[in-house]
Amino acid sequence: MEHEITLIQGDGIGPEVTHAARMCVDALGKSNGFNVYWDVQPAGADALKKYGSLLPERTLDSIRRNKVALKGPITTPIGGGFRSVNVALRQELDLFANVRPVRTFEGTKSRYSNIDLVIIRENTEDLYAGIEFKAGSKDAKDMIKFVKSKSSKEVRAGSALAIKPISSFASRRIAKFAFEYAKIKGRKKVTAVHKANIMKYTDGLFLKSAQSVARNYKDIEFESKIVDDMCMQLVVKPDEYDMLLCPNLYGDIISDLCAGLVGGLGMAPGGNIGKRAAVFEPVHGSAPKHAGKNDVNPVACILAAAMMLGNIGEHKSQLELEHAVAKVIKDGKKVTYDLAKGKAVGTKEMTMEILKEITK
Ligand code: NAD
Repeated sequence: MEHEITLIQGDGIGPEVTHAARMCVDALGKSNGFNVYWDVQPAGADALKKYGSLLPERTLDSIRRNKVALKGPITTPIGGGFRSVNVALRQELDLFANVRPVRTFEGTKSRYSNIDLVIIRENTEDLYAGIEFKAGSKDAKDMIKFVKSKSSKEVRAGSALAIKPISSFASRRIAKFAFEYAKIKGRKKVTAVHKANIMKYTDGLFLKSAQSVARNYKDIEFESKIVDDMCMQLVVKPDEYDMLLCPNLYGDIISDLCAGLVGGLGMAPGGNIGKRAAVFEPVHGSAPKHAGKNDVNPVACILAAAMMLGNIGEHKSQLELEHAVAKVIKDGKKVTYDLAKGKAVGTKEMTMEILKEITK
């Protein structure tokens, strides 16, 4: 069996962690009889230098063609009018569902045991839609006038503005995705996260859509939580939750919080899923201060590659990879600084240990 997969190495620690994941997939291919052709494509800082674009069309074309990609993290310069490559990629390919599983691996340094959560985050709307108006710009001034004429609300002069679009279409689509996921994976409960008490129309619509979709899935428990309460509940009794259905912004924040519950960002993988393509990546960013130091945890990216293997139908390899990771973390002898209880090893050494488990 042949698989062609787009590989975006990314910025900062991206090349190190994607290399680790690629080696694991290749090793599994050898033992389980499939072959991966990696179509390496640019995005991020290098792409900007070489092709004049943070996300060149050739990269999008490659993902459209292959329908699946593994992606390292990409640096988004703060301010300065840069559009996030990650947000652009999700919007361009309509990767509307962000799936972020968070679970405890025995041997991690964490305050909790037995956490097994999945965050389903809407990926295309909300304050991440990228509709912003710069403070003092003519457009911002026009918007302030427009808001006053429509709502009689006074926005302070000189303010910057952002628009938070939430549609019934996208909210129902992500809710349906969450319940279908729950059905396939045998999960029991979906908790919708919102702030509809304050944002009655936007978050209110998200919540109403989730409630209406939930009525079609009688076997799966449904409840809702206000986002601030949700954060507190996750810290106090995370084991009471199963799947969290979130709009874009809360989903991003809550998934980092949940990563912290199971040992940190080095442990959290994610998949961006659409009808025509899927892009798998670690939840963490490019951690520039660690770049090239061979010290970060490759597990988030390796587990993202495991999710990818499931997506392309290589379920046996997905399980073997997850078991190999779990074994190495449990042994605790060859793990990176964020997991080590004694002396830490580097990214490469931990990857070699996982490879040894795979090929045992
Ligand atoms: P970050 O996730 O890159 O790093 C924050 C801290 O988490 C690091 O300093 C490190 O201590 C720890 N960490 C992250 N990954 C780790 C790993 N694999 N192993 C061990 N420890 C790890 O967040 P940041 O510093 O806020 O962001 C850096 C850049 O990454 C920004 O430009 C941001 O926009 C970008 N970013 C990209 C993505 C993406 O590509 N999907 C996601 C988040 C952030």
